[in-house]
Amino acid sequence: MSSVVLAIDQGTTSSRTILFGRDGRPVSSAQQEFPQIYPSPGHVEHDPESIWSSQLATMREAMDRARITAGDIAAIGVTNQRETTILWDRRTGQPIANAIVWQSRITSPRCDQLKREGVEPVIRKKTGLVLDAYFSGTKIAHLLDTISGARAAAERGDILFGTVETFLLWRLSGGRLHITDASNASRTLLCNIHTLDWDDELLQIFHIPRAMLPEIRSCSEVYGETDPQLFGQAIPLAGAAGDQQAATFGQACFEPGNAKNTYGTGCFMLMNTGHDAVESQHGLVTTIAWKIGTEVTYALEGSIFIAGAAVQWLRDGLGLIESAPETEQLASTLTSNEGVYFVPAFVGLGAPYWDSDARGLLIGLTRGTTRAHLARAALESMAYQTRDVLTAMQADAGVPLSTLKVDGGATANNWLVQFQADLLGVPVQRPVVQETTALGAAYLAGLAVGYWNDLSDLQRNWVLDREFSASIPSNAADQLYAGWQAAVTRSRGWNTSCGS
Ligand code: ADP
Repeated sequence: MSSVVLAIDQGTTSSRTILFGRDGRPVSSAQQEFPQIYPSPGHVEHDPESIWSSQLATMREAMDRARITAGDIAAIGVTNQRETTILWDRRTGQPIANAIVWQSRITSPRCDQLKREGVEPVIRKKTGLVLDAYFSGTKIAHLLDTISGARAAAERGDILFGTVETFLLWRLSGGRLHITDASNASRTLLCNIHTLDWDDELLQIFHIPRAMLPEIRSCSEVYGETDPQLFGQAIPLAGAAGDQQAATFGQACFEPGNAKNTYGTGCFMLMNTGHDAVESQHGLVTTIAWKIGTEVTYALEGSIFIAGAAVQWLRDGLGLIESAPETEQLASTLTSNEGVYFVPAFVGLGAPYWDSDARGLLIGLTRGTTRAHLARAALESMAYQTRDVLTAMQADAGVPLSTLKVDGGATANNWLVQFQADLLGVPVQRPVVQETTALGAAYLAGLAVGYWNDLSDLQRNWVLDREFSASIPSNAADQLYAGWQAAVTRSRGWNTSCGS
């Protein structure tokens, strides 16, 4: 029996590979950053070749570190930065342009125009998404419209589209596989999440030829194998999911009502809603969590744009702290926030507000305000935004949350996680293995090849590091939260109020 499963975690700023054993613990890992390209303000690109070369290098490095060869790998699973859009030539395999990254606002004007044409309701109904430049649909159209000859070639099927997992699976299979998985497909604005197929009406709205689209497959099945030339021997390619969906799987959120929140640069909360695609009435998006066999699991998702990045700003923008962990000690020097709130709406507000004109705000300052207050307010802002999203989720899903599982870099901060439990009034659980994104991809691939038998095997691997329980009365939490809501109200629409 092979010894490990290899997870590819292709992120926004780095490519990583982690090898996992049967107990769900990492055996070895490797990580490589790659360049971010900013052609002009608000536009973000990646060179697909640097995505590929960094990913391949980390795969080889992780294998070397564990002293294993291809024959020791039971399967490969892929998870990826979502929505990022790549177009390449079917014959040569060469990208025809840089990838347009999920963060890029280059297609915002196109989205505004489509909104004026009144197509958003049908898009929302079929895709579960909001019409925003964040998703892939308008990014594909932009490339087809701006690169000479691209549209005609795409119509002939000579130019292919893929999000990052599709591109990697194409390259890994030596150009044999042009496939996506249901979770990644659900972020393109082109996939009908109820039929799990590309939708002709949506393709027409976005002006995308069907011939360039990958086949939509499940998240856990043997898709094919790696080109033997890459690692000396073929390895099964057997799992794929977008990063947030993979993290939800890695956190073993298998039952409806289970939710996880990842605290990184931003925060992404997903709640499993089972076989129902719950339509949000409260500013969330509906997405495919995963498809295993013929069974589709849906999720509600709330994306918060600025979370840990607020702490980064204290460090890099203001120079108030030397390192992010310092905020933990600073925050705990105060017994209350003393009325100081920080709304980090640097790029507007995401879920549940979707207010691109909101701007950052610090309020409640007095002569007594110190950097401890600002550090505390930055940490508190992550917890308040999480409560905003969670409140919306509970209202949409109609199920109360019993516990929240958390992961991501900022959850190393015990003060933050305790404050989160206080504010939500539910236990917050932090697992031992924080690499939940890669773990989710490994699980999906491992299930497909029988490395793990079923979900209960995975459930058993989930080991609690620490549970944080609420330590303040709920009315005290509500009072703190009311202050946040008042601060948010004052931050909204600022970009238009100040005429910039
Ligand atoms: P990403 O995957 O989005 O790059 P990570 O999961 O690596 O993010 O988390 C990094 C983010 O978490 C940074 O924005 C950083 O400011 C924040 N962060 C890291 N450690 C701490 C800490 N101890 N306390 C508060 N914030 C932290």
